[in-house]
Amino acid sequence: MATRTSDDLRADAARAPGTDIGRDPVSQPLSDAALDLIGREKTFGARNYDPLPVVLARGQGSWLADVDGHRYLDLMSAYSAVSFGHANPRIVGALVAQAQQLGVTSRAYYNDELPLLLERLAQLTGLDRALPANGGAEAVETAMKAARKWGHKIKGIPEGRAEIIGCQGNFHGRTIAVIGLSTEPQYRDGFGPFPPGLSTIPYGDADALERAITPRTAAFLVEPIQGEGGIVVPPEGYLARSLEICRKHRVLMICDEIQTGLGRTGRFLASEYDGVKPDGVILGKALGGGLLPVSAFVATHDVMQVFHPGDHGSTFGGNPLASAVAMASLDVLFEERLIERSASLGEWMLGELQDLRGGVVKDVRGRGLFLGIEVDERYTTARPVVDRLLARGILSKDTHDTVVRIAPPLNIPRDDLAWAIGEIRTVFRELERDLKRAA
Ligand SMILES: *Cc1c(COP(=O)(O)O)cnc(C)c1O
Repeated sequence: MATRTSDDLRADAARAPGTDIGRDPVSQPLSDAALDLIGREKTFGARNYDPLPVVLARGQGSWLADVDGHRYLDLMSAYSAVSFGHANPRIVGALVAQAQQLGVTSRAYYNDELPLLLERLAQLTGLDRALPANGGAEAVETAMKAARKWGHKIKGIPEGRAEIIGCQGNFHGRTIAVIGLSTEPQYRDGFGPFPPGLSTIPYGDADALERAITPRTAAFLVEPIQGEGGIVVPPEGYLARSLEICRKHRVLMICDEIQTGLGRTGRFLASEYDGVKPDGVILGKALGGGLLPVSAFVATHDVMQVFHPGDHGSTFGGNPLASAVAMASLDVLFEERLIERSASLGEWMLGELQDLRGGVVKDVRGRGLFLGIEVDERYTTARPVVDRLLARGILSKDTHDTVVRIAPPLNIPRDDLAWAIGEIRTVFRELERDLKRAA
C-alpha cells in the first residue's frame, strides 16, 4: 500500500461531504440521531463515564467527524492510544492483511508474529524479555505480579510479605490491585478491600522513596510524567536519583510508560530524559496503533526469570493480529520520525502556549506533544475550557478538574496545530472576558 502523508489524510478529511468545523451548542443543537444514540447509551450502558456531547462516527488522521458531519481536530488522541492518527493507512493495512492471514491462536501454540514483536520490544527498550497483554491495567498487574514474585523468590522477602511503593496522584488503571495503589478517593470508594503491601509516597520526592523502603520492598512503580494526575513533570534527575536508591536497597524500579512511551514526550521512552534504564517498563495505548488494545511488560532477565509455564497468562495476549498491528505501529513511529516530530512540535507549541500564563491560566507545562494547561481554580475549572474548545471544533479533555490535556496525534500537521493554538488563545480570551462580565 502506498504511504500517504499527513497532508493527504487532511485532504481526505476536508473532502468529507457536508462538514463544518465544531458545533455551536446554541445555534446547532444535537440532532435527533445524536440524541437517540446518547439516549441508548445512557439507558443500556453502565454509567461509569460522562462523555462530552459529541457522537463520533469517522476518523482520519487528526480529524474526527460526528454523526451529523461536524468536524473536530483531535487534541486528545484517545489518551494517546491514537498517537499515529485515526485510520493510519499503514497500520490499517497491516491489520487487514494479518486478519486475513491469522488472527488469534492463544499461547498454546507459537505463531509467526509474536516472536518478532518480543524481540523488537526487548531491543527498543534495552531490556531482555517482554510479556504481552491487552489493556494497560493488565500489563500493570503483570508487572506487580512479577515484582512480588521476584521479591519472594529472588530477593528473599518472606512469602506473602512483598511490598510495592507507588506515588501519590498516580494512575495505573482500574483493576482492584491497581486501585489499591491509587490515592484518588473516587477510584477506590466502595471497591475495597484492597490487597495488602501497597503504599504511596509524594511524587517527585526521591528522599521520600528512600525513607519508605523497607527490607520487604520489592518494587517502586512510577510514571515518568504523571498523565491523569495532571501532566505533572517531576524535577530533573528524579528518576535517576530514584533508580540509584532502588539499586542501593535492591528494589526494582518499574516505569509505567503506557501513556508517556512511544514518542509521546519527544523520546521513545520518557525515562530516557533522565538517562535511566529501569528494571521494567510497561507499554500500552499507542502500541495498539489506535486499532486494538495491545500492551506489554518488558523487563530484565532477572525479573522475568520468575515466570514459569502456567504462572501467568492471557488468552488474547500476544495474538498474531495484535502483534502485527504493534509492529506496524512501531514501524510508523520510527520510519516517519515521529519521536523527533513530537519533540520539535511539542517544544514549539509549549512556547506558543506559555504566554497564556497569568489571569485564568496558572501554568502551561509538558514534554513533547504531552501538554497540560492548568487553570486557576479561583476563577474556573477546566471543563468550561474543554466545552468551548469543543464548540470551536477541538477535542481536548479535562483532567484533575483544573488541567486541560493536550496530546494530539504525533503526526498532526503543523498547520492544524497552529490553527488549534489560535483557537485556544481565543477561548481563553473569551473566557476571561465572560468571567469579568459575570463578576
Ligand atoms: C491509561 C493508563 C493505564 C491504564 O491503561 P488501560 O488500557 O486503560 O487499562 C495505566 N497507566 C497509565 C500511565 C495510563 O495512562
